[in-house]
Amino acid sequence: MENNYIANPKNTIAILNKYNFIFQKRFGQNFLIDTHVLNKIIASANITKEDVVLEIGPGIGSMTQFLCENAGHVIAVEIDKSLIPILQDTLSDYSNLTLINEDILKLDIENVLKEHNCNKPVKVVANLPYYITTPIIMGLFEQHIPLESITVMVQKEVAERMNAKPKTKDYGALTLAVNYYSVPYIAANVPPNCFMPRPNVGSAVIRLTTTDNHPFVLKDESHMFKLVRAAFNQRRKTLVNALNNSPELNIDKDTILAVLEDMKLKPTARGEELSLEQFAALSNTIIEKSGHK
Ligand code: SAM
Repeated sequence: MENNYIANPKNTIAILNKYNFIFQKRFGQNFLIDTHVLNKIIASANITKEDVVLEIGPGIGSMTQFLCENAGHVIAVEIDKSLIPILQDTLSDYSNLTLINEDILKLDIENVLKEHNCNKPVKVVANLPYYITTPIIMGLFEQHIPLESITVMVQKEVAERMNAKPKTKDYGALTLAVNYYSVPYIAANVPPNCFMPRPNVGSAVIRLTTTDNHPFVLKDESHMFKLVRAAFNQRRKTLVNALNNSPELNIDKDTILAVLEDMKLKPTARGEELSLEQFAALSNTIIEKSGHK
């Protein structure tokens, strides 16, 4: 069976040659050529025949083949139209695949899921194009698409930012957003030689299991994220100055100082010192004290 896998390096080269495929750097094309890594991704995502999986960027179908073997249904969205005839050929054995030639950032995903009578949360699984990792993940979360989990290959450094702890250099707006919508878990580090062509950065597989089970009740989600953006847009500044300077907010320094005092934080505190719970408390208290949104 190993020999039949698209991800087998020999098979990948044969497919690329057969179609005279030219890699498009602008689409972040680095195809997986390691079946152990693919098995690890399927296991981390816990894919079963009950699942509908959304794959972003199937490439020549290396991961799609593993998904079709293991999932109930796979919806794969590929931007590069030159890959569509290749995928129709490499994956012709699978009847549980829907292939869509679209830009994932422009696609109405919710509508696509409805069209496929997908009435349970989907699992997103992908070896993401690295140039748009953050917009893809944030788009999935913010559009409130019914999601069970997102298991993706990303640049190692981005996985570390998603999984960072307060008071570290990696901790920032992405960490807080990911931890608000999900529970992150880094499942594997993956070296460049597992891809063709080799990327010039290390990669990691991260699973984000969606959750809305928080130890706090937020008065206004968008207000908290305005605070987060303001705090990390100027991360070297104190929170008082960063929030006061933000064009998205309109909070005077006295209010911020009073809120920090209520929360037993120093007047010189910076955003990177605050946990998600503290940002939630900061947002709720500012709203209470000033009515500002
Ligand atoms: N899944 C394949 C694999 O693992 O070998 C390919 C992964 S490659 C890193 C990223 C894929 O995403 C490419 O096939 C690329 O053409 C596609 N892609 C890039 N931007 C996209 C977008 N905006 N929407 C959908 N697919 C995109």
